[in-house]
Amino acid sequence: MNTIIQKIDSEKNNIYIKREDLIPYSFGGNKARKAFKFFEHIGDDYDYVVTYGSSSSNHARVVANLCQKFNKNCIIISPEEAEKETYNSLMMKIFNAEIIIVPVSEVSKTIDDTLEKLKNQGHTPYFIQGGGHGIIGTSAYVDCYNEISEYEKENNINFDYIFLASGTGTTHAGLVCGQLINKDNNKKIIGISIARNANRGKHVIIESIKDYLKENNYIINEEKIKEYTYFLDDYIVGGYGLYNDDIMETIRNMLFKEGLPLDPTYTGKAMTGMFKYISKNEINNKNILFIHTGGTPLFFDFLENEYKNKFKN
Ligand SMILES: *Cc1c(COP(=O)(O)O)cnc(C)c1O
Repeated sequence: MNTIIQKIDSEKNNIYIKREDLIPYSFGGNKARKAFKFFEHIGDDYDYVVTYGSSSSNHARVVANLCQKFNKNCIIISPEEAEKETYNSLMMKIFNAEIIIVPVSEVSKTIDDTLEKLKNQGHTPYFIQGGGHGIIGTSAYVDCYNEISEYEKENNINFDYIFLASGTGTTHAGLVCGQLINKDNNKKIIGISIARNANRGKHVIIESIKDYLKENNYIINEEKIKEYTYFLDDYIVGGYGLYNDDIMETIRNMLFKEGLPLDPTYTGKAMTGMFKYISKNEINNKNILFIHTGGTPLFFDFLENEYKNKFKN
């Protein structure tokens, strides 16, 4: 799954992008990398995959697609508070996923009931947490970290910073695990929060790191884990899915200059945060890697929302 790393135009620093969006399945993205790991575990032992995701969920779209590939029944529990139709939700429907819509307060009970009901009917359901959260999801991004290390060795370069959009924190946790396991002290991995506040977000990331290290018998003390987990909530601009003119400008710039699609919820927000962090901290002449975590269908939702009416004759 080794995705390419490309250098983009930039004046003050050397900026590179790891193109996780080009993972060659279902528009790629970090959810594709994680979901492939889950399906390795699922193998032939389960006939249903049950997961959680809103109508804009990249995770739910990839899982529904993989269920078609591996011939599994797919059930997606979805919160009624976020039911606007999107390209992701359309694809979930095309992939024949059964979508169960309930108020967000009933999600957890609905998941339990659904699994219980399937088991009672003699089925073998496998549950994947929303966003592909959990040790298996984390392990996908330890792999990604190792690819980055390989690239550094082959190209005789050290990335001083790695930036990414951090949501459930699984992607971020996997990268930090890779860093800690490789004892790589020469870089800062910085997660730009797309919704969570610093306290909650950082706590979840640290728990994910601890879970993964414990499961794989690595002993690393908690202080060190905390020291290496940089999670910034300065660029949330009001909450999940909300965006401002700065983010729109980043998206336009990257599209015009690099032909690179970003979306306002994740990659566009995180890259805007990255540029603000770089200028605020006067970072110069450094090697900086941005992880493009995917979300291409959200780019098309953005196009439709922002531009469709504007260019209608
Ligand atoms: C889910 C998602 C993220 C956040 O990943 P987490 O592992 O949940 O933190 C970032 N970018 C995109 C495009 C996503 O779909």
